[in-house]
Amino acid sequence: MTATFVGMPPFPEAARVALSDSQLRSNLAHATSTIRAKRVAVVSEVDAWEELRLAGAAIKDNTLLHLDEHLLRLEESLTANGATVHWARDAAEANAVVADVARSHGADEVVKVKSMATQEIGLNEALAEQGIAAWETDLAELIVQLGDDLPSHILVPAIHRNRSEIQQIFTRHMAEAGRPAPDDLTDEPARLAEAARLHLREKFLRAKVGVSGANFAVADTGTLVVVESEGNGRMCLTLPEVLVSVVGIEKVVPTWSDLDVFLQLLPRSSTGERMNPYTSTWSGVTKGDGPQEVHVVLLDNGRTRALADEVGRQALRCIRCSACLNVCPVYERTGGHAYGSVYPGPIGAILNPLLRGVGNDEQTDSLPYASSLCGACFEVCPVRIDIPSVLVDLRAKVVDAHRGGIPKPEALAMKAASLAFSSGRLTGAAERMAGMAGRVLARGRTGPGGRWLLSRLPGASSWTNARDLPVPPAESFRAWWRRTGGGRR
Ligand code: SF4
Repeated sequence: MTATFVGMPPFPEAARVALSDSQLRSNLAHATSTIRAKRVAVVSEVDAWEELRLAGAAIKDNTLLHLDEHLLRLEESLTANGATVHWARDAAEANAVVADVARSHGADEVVKVKSMATQEIGLNEALAEQGIAAWETDLAELIVQLGDDLPSHILVPAIHRNRSEIQQIFTRHMAEAGRPAPDDLTDEPARLAEAARLHLREKFLRAKVGVSGANFAVADTGTLVVVESEGNGRMCLTLPEVLVSVVGIEKVVPTWSDLDVFLQLLPRSSTGERMNPYTSTWSGVTKGDGPQEVHVVLLDNGRTRALADEVGRQALRCIRCSACLNVCPVYERTGGHAYGSVYPGPIGAILNPLLRGVGNDEQTDSLPYASSLCGACFEVCPVRIDIPSVLVDLRAKVVDAHRGGIPKPEALAMKAASLAFSSGRLTGAAERMAGMAGRVLARGRTGPGGRWLLSRLPGASSWTNARDLPVPPAESFRAWWRRTGGGRR
């Protein structure tokens, strides 16, 4: 169980392999079309859906604008509630905190709530290096873990698997990780869920340490929030003696009223439900109830880099609903593995380069091009992230990063045009020079001086061989206007 995205090829190469897998395409088409239809039905029930989206985007933007203040407030509230707050600049620091906590309690295993942040930092692999087993308890994550596979969707990590593949994985691999699958297991969903439930129950009851992420963190009260559908999260958050939550710094919301908006947006956009089956909230330690030691790791890992990007910072509004994946024509055909990251699809195409920076590796630089720019992702995003605009901006940044500091002729021409159009006086001078140059070039087809000049302009001779260069007017429009007062004199 050591699968990793490290060393994945660039998107075009990985996508070519994925496209040749007809079983994968059929599984994805079935799953995404089902979730899409459910989402459309429940979103259309809400008259003020657009107002909710605007509110969600505004709350996130305002919070990001004063992120430092909200994070300090969150730390203060959490500490007052008996939690220990750790700040982690990167994956290594965050992983070290979780490993230290587990070791200090003599734990050689932890149970996990599904969490994108812990996948992003490679927590399971880091703990395994320290001899600590991390057991995923979300059903889809369990399928991925037992199958030594990689997640391919934010919400449904095993979306690329069908029922009979899941049955085979359980039958072959459950025994390696604990209670084996029943001998007579079939591919009926209820039988598969029962097998997973029996397998996981032993782990819930045994584990001393639980690990989670958080969908939201309310600064005012120091409350962490996890939403889920199976109840496994509730078990991990209440049964172990110790709880460690790894939380991206962008998850903070100032108040419970702000949280209310997201608890309406998230379930309809993600699972196509009116509300989440399980919404767990906890505020530090409650004596005699639940974990008596709570640690919260506030994770940066590239988020402040993304925050510094004027266009890209809107990606930090993301509430990981995965609606953009389900409508993306590229994702539907290639699946999530081709993106080479725990964040696939349209949000992955912008979030990975924003978190890691561009110009450093070919795989990350290929992601902003993994899109047709059709705009479907923007239309469904509950927090109105304009993914196509961020993609275009990132493409420009990728190109710039590979330029080696040498500007291209087009860039120089555009810079000159920008300068010329910045004032009326410069525009007039540019027109006069362009008129003179144009007349010389136009004569170049017949005059020896012009032909010599044309032959020395890069690309100009081949261009003018096939086209007639129009002779510019003897007087520009601006000069004519000045001379005649717009035709009145
Ligand atoms: S970008 Fe928007 S639609 Fe995509 S996962 Fe994030 S919140 Fe959902």
